[in-house]
Amino acid sequence: ATTATGGTVPLTDALELAQQGLPWLMVFDHAGVPLHLGRTKRLATPAQRLALIAALRGCSRPGCDAPASLCAVHHVRDWNTHGDTDIENLTLACDRCHAMVHDGPGGWKTVTLDQDSQFPGRTGWIAPPHIDPTATPRVNHRHHTSELLATTLARIHEQRNQEREQRQRWLSSHTRHTHAA
Ligand SMILES: [Zn+2]
Repeated sequence: ATTATGGTVPLTDALELAQQGLPWLMVFDHAGVPLHLGRTKRLATPAQRLALIAALRGCSRPGCDAPASLCAVHHVRDWNTHGDTDIENLTLACDRCHAMVHDGPGGWKTVTLDQDSQFPGRTGWIAPPHIDPTATPRVNHRHHTSELLATTLARIHEQRNQEREQRQRWLSSHTRHTHAA
């Protein structure tokens, strides 16, 4: 289990702590999707904050190491431009990164990635043109190292498949040549 300060404790310890009166228990699947929020109460701002801490574990800006305890809740779409205070429109950002998001020159933008994205539902950060002229939304993997492992494994798997196909193509053409001879 991951704590709000970025540390880890064995799951059994976490459950024991929860039994001793911690009022909230959230359970996530391997993709980080909330499976359970343990409290029968209308989902209010504290619950949203806890959900964000549990899901994001820290600042959402690519490359930032700040743990959840140093972060504030940030509206992905600005509240002034009808960005609702719904969980889908909220993310975590540390003060330094939060200050980088503005409409002025050199300002960063944040968007929620759609279903076609590699990381649907996550907060994508778009760097200003002098940093990234392609304006590609990027997510933070610092608090989700398993994602990087999954991406690497998928790439290795794809490479192996291609090599196997190449070998099969070569073998079948070689066999045809042998028959022709
Ligand atoms: Zn940050």
